[in-house]
Amino acid sequence: MTKSRSEQFFEIAERLLPGGVNSPVRAFRSVGGIPRFIDRAAGSRIYDVDGREYIDYVGSWGPMILGHAHPQVQEAIRKAVERGTSYGAPTVQEIELARRIIEAFPSLEKIRMVSSGTEATMSAIRLARGCTGREKILKFEGCYHGHADSLLVKAGSGIATLGIPGSPGVPACLAELTITLPFNSVEAFRTAVDRYGKELACVIVEPVAGNMGVVEPLPGFLETLRELTRQAGILLIFDEVITGFRLTYGGYQNLCGIEPDLTCLGKIIGGGLPVGAFGGRRDLMDYLAPVGPVYQAGTLSGNPLAMAAGLATLDILSSQRADYDVLNHRTAELCAAMGRLFQAADIPVRINRAGSLFTLFFSDHDVVNYETASLSNTDRYALFFKGMLERGIYLAPSAFEAAFVSFAHSEKDLEETLSACAETIKTMKGG
Ligand code: PMP
Repeated sequence: MTKSRSEQFFEIAERLLPGGVNSPVRAFRSVGGIPRFIDRAAGSRIYDVDGREYIDYVGSWGPMILGHAHPQVQEAIRKAVERGTSYGAPTVQEIELARRIIEAFPSLEKIRMVSSGTEATMSAIRLARGCTGREKILKFEGCYHGHADSLLVKAGSGIATLGIPGSPGVPACLAELTITLPFNSVEAFRTAVDRYGKELACVIVEPVAGNMGVVEPLPGFLETLRELTRQAGILLIFDEVITGFRLTYGGYQNLCGIEPDLTCLGKIIGGGLPVGAFGGRRDLMDYLAPVGPVYQAGTLSGNPLAMAAGLATLDILSSQRADYDVLNHRTAELCAAMGRLFQAADIPVRINRAGSLFTLFFSDHDVVNYETASLSNTDRYALFFKGMLERGIYLAPSAFEAAFVSFAHSEKDLEETLSACAETIKTMKGG
C-alpha cells in the first residue's frame, strides 16, 4: 500500500524532531496512528497535505475562536508585516492591545506581554514570589500551566503532599516548593492553607480547568480560594490562558465575579500568533523591572505582528459581544445531541461543557477532578477519535483535552459532526 504524504513526512520528522513533533500533544501517541501534516486552514476547516479536509475542533488548542484565517485578522497581519516584523522598542499597538485587555478585565490595571502562556505563568509566579517574599506555591492536580519547572509537578497522594518531580530535569528542590491538591476540594484546600499558609506565595488555578478535559469549578470552590488566600496574604492567580475571551468578552472571572490578584492570558489575545500576557493590580505589577526588582524580559515580547493579530481578534470579538451566547448555545446543542447518540447506543459518557469548550469522557462517573477524569476509558476515546478522523472530524488526539468550537463552525458543520458521530458509534459497539 502506498504511504500517504503525512506518513512520508512523519517518517522524516521522526528523524529530525523528537517524536516527530514540536509539542508532545500533537503526536497521536495515545490514540494511535500518525499525525496529519496540515497544509492550510480556513474557517472551521483544516486541510492536510494529502488534500483531506477536516472540521477542526482543536483550533490550534484555543486561539482560533474566530476560525482559521479570518479575513480581518489576515489583513491586519499583512498590514503589520509591511512595516517590519520586530523592533525591540515600544509601539502604539502594544498600548492599544493592553488597553483593550485591561478594559475587559476588572481585576487588571497593568499587564506585561510575553510570547507564550508558559512565559506568562512562569513570570506571574516569579512576581508572586518576589512580592510576597515567600517561596512555596500551590496548584491543582490536572491543571496545566505551561512547562516551567515549578509547575510541572505531579500530585502526591493525600492532601497537601509535598511535590515530587513530574518530569526528569525538574530539580527536586524546586518541585518540593510546589504543593498539589485535588481540584474542587475545598476541604483539602483549607487543610493546606492551615498547614502552609504563611509559606505560600501564590495559588494558581485554571478557574475552569481545560487540561484534564473540561472541568468546571463546583459552587464555592473558587470563592473559598479567594477568601482564604486573602486572609493568609497569598496571591491568587487565575490562569485564563484558555478561558480568556473564550467564554465571554473578558475572562471567567467576569462571569463568576471573583477577582484574582494576578491573571495569565495567552492564545486568543494573540489571534493565532505567539502571545501571552500576565497582569494584575498596579502595586503588584510595579514590582517588575524596570520599576521594581523582579526581572522579566523578552526579545519578541509585544511583537508587532502578534499585537496586530490580537487587536484585530479582540475588535471582532467585542463587536460581536452578544454572539458568545450564540456560540455557547450552539456548543450546548452539539453536546446534548452527541449525548443522546451515545445514550441510544448504551455507551456511557459524561460530556463536560463550559461555553464553547467541551470534553467527552467515556465514563459513567461524573468528572470533577483529575482522579475522576482518569477513570474514563481512553481505549474507547482512541476508537472514537479514529472513527471521527476517518470521517473528516479533527478532535484532540488525547482523551484529556478540550474540544474548541469557533464562531466559524456553522450549523451545517455541527450536523456533519453529528452524522460522523452516529456513524462512528456504530463501529464502536462493544469497543
Ligand atoms: N496555561 C494554560 C491553562 C494552558 O492551557 C496552556 C497551554 N495549553 C498554558 C498555560 C501554556 O501556554 P503555552 O503553550 O502558550 O506556553
